[in-house]
Amino acid sequence: MKKLLLFLAVYLTIPLFAQRGKIDIPNLKGYMTLKCDFHMHSVFSDGLVWPTVRVGEAYREGLDAISITDHIEYRPHKDNIIASHNRSGEIAQSTAKSMGIIYIKGSEITRNMPPGHLNAIFLTDSEPLDKPEYMDALLAAKAQNAFIFWNHPGWDAQQPDTTRWWPEHTKLLEQGIIQGIEIVNNGNYYPEAHRWCLEKKLTMIGNSDVHTPMQIFTSGQHRPMTLVFASNATSEAIHEALKERRTAVYNDEYIIGEEKYLKELFENAVEITVSKAENSARVTFRNKSDLIFYLRKTSHDPRLVYFRNVTVAPYIIKPQSVQTITVRLNNGAKGGDVNFRVENFLVQPSQGMNYTVKI
Ligand code: ZN
Repeated sequence: MKKLLLFLAVYLTIPLFAQRGKIDIPNLKGYMTLKCDFHMHSVFSDGLVWPTVRVGEAYREGLDAISITDHIEYRPHKDNIIASHNRSGEIAQSTAKSMGIIYIKGSEITRNMPPGHLNAIFLTDSEPLDKPEYMDALLAAKAQNAFIFWNHPGWDAQQPDTTRWWPEHTKLLEQGIIQGIEIVNNGNYYPEAHRWCLEKKLTMIGNSDVHTPMQIFTSGQHRPMTLVFASNATSEAIHEALKERRTAVYNDEYIIGEEKYLKELFENAVEITVSKAENSARVTFRNKSDLIFYLRKTSHDPRLVYFRNVTVAPYIIKPQSVQTITVRLNNGAKGGDVNFRVENFLVQPSQGMNYTVKI
């Protein structure tokens, strides 16, 4: 009977999301690159879908791990849906398990600014977070060894003119309560928050914060997500990686993160080979990933002439493609540095990653 019920639960969900999606992003040395969304809503707060639908969407889009983080304090459907703060997670968890998605239990602590909205994930029980004082709610989450991050710090409803860091956040940081910040929420990138993460050693997070049914993505499109570089595909390994700040954010065509991870991602995604002739060299970019790369020339020895055909627009390496450029070696140059910036790999606020190919 139990088996039959499990079969029905899976059977009734899968047809809606028939195909397991796949997003091809390389792993790093010793770490798997897991695609995660740690901020979503269901009808158990102000979302418009049943929790299992979130699992099906993640399955369809090729995500590895999700967390439904319904608001503790804001439940507009509560007269119709009478349940504990744990219920959406309980419902999603068994479907996630059957579909091979890692489910991480979470809740959103929802306050005016400061401190704004914060997500606590890796909870065991959301009920103790229902407290009048925000600090008591956060301490209740912390007592469960939750990972806590500040949501959408640049949300204009709460920060209309500037994305401001408040004294309350300094306090939360000093007490070890805030461990990360959403630098991307629902497609919006906050460069100020990116800078805070670098300066204050906080984990960079990017999430969908989806409330409605997730849109259907065409090939190459995807929801905003956090890439977690985890030692294995488990909830425990994701938790460890988040604490160690081994993440990047994938938003639209951008990857945002620390240079050491982005450099390795680039090198593992694009195999670069150089073949030299008398007065020129050919550089081949073999992109084995679903990522796109926008390359723009930076200062270099003027005797090396490259990316000539694209003086204004960047040179684009398309996903899953092999492309070759010719570097002309003028005035007796025997080789040198082909310098460029990967414009959509942000290693500093709104600033791309410099890279050199030696020929
Ligand atoms: Zn939210």
